[in-house]
Amino acid sequence: MSSDHRGIGMTSQRTRDRLITRLKQQGIGNTEVLTVMRDLPRHIFVDEALASRAYEDTALPIGQGQTISQPFIVARMTEILLEGIPKKKVLEVGTGSGYQTAVLSRLVERVFSVERIAVLQNQARERFYQLKLNNIRLKHSDGSWGWEDNAPYDGILVTCAPEQIPEGLLAQLAPGGRLVIPVGGSNAQSLQVIDRNDSSFERTELDAVSFVPLLAGRI
Ligand code: SAH
Repeated sequence: MSSDHRGIGMTSQRTRDRLITRLKQQGIGNTEVLTVMRDLPRHIFVDEALASRAYEDTALPIGQGQTISQPFIVARMTEILLEGIPKKKVLEVGTGSGYQTAVLSRLVERVFSVERIAVLQNQARERFYQLKLNNIRLKHSDGSWGWEDNAPYDGILVTCAPEQIPEGLLAQLAPGGRLVIPVGGSNAQSLQVIDRNDSSFERTELDAVSFVPLLAGRI
């Protein structure tokens, strides 16, 4: 039995479909995003002991004090990011389990993702290999600096919260590009969207959210 099929009862298509129905009820309307999330096995991105909970709409621990984001948040951030940008080159800061990275990889041409914790990055790499996701490049680094070599990006999605938006990320956004990022301290974060026009930036503040903090350095 391949690992894709472990715990088949809990991770059956019916269980996954229920999650998608819930996401729709909560206002996710992008059918491409919903289709990708219906087909992508989220249980591959968590520890085997938590696989049975992988299709609940909750964040789950992935070790190293980090969490895999709640499916609703993944869907919402992806939907917002891809609205109106060229679906070519996207940068993610905070690979974590790799689930958000994998969702993006099925919706855009190329995904670049930066993670500061090597152990998590290596596990994510294994999962991409297993799922044959070949358009993802990973870097072990502090993502506050973005990933200059491949800039500019049509979209940048950040899955950990800085107190303030790092300048480097703004600089690496292409004209017409969009940054989606949670901003704030541990008790008051909001999801923010920054749209780059030729030389100006337009900021929109959305929902209150709760992400792990963006931390400096790499381990
Ligand atoms: N999208 C991931 C979210 C993981 S939690 C998922 O759904 O699994 C956020 C991740 O951001 C953690 O893995 C954390 O180590 C990472 N992170 C925090 N600060 C960072 C930084 N400065 N640069 C890169 N990654 C960072």
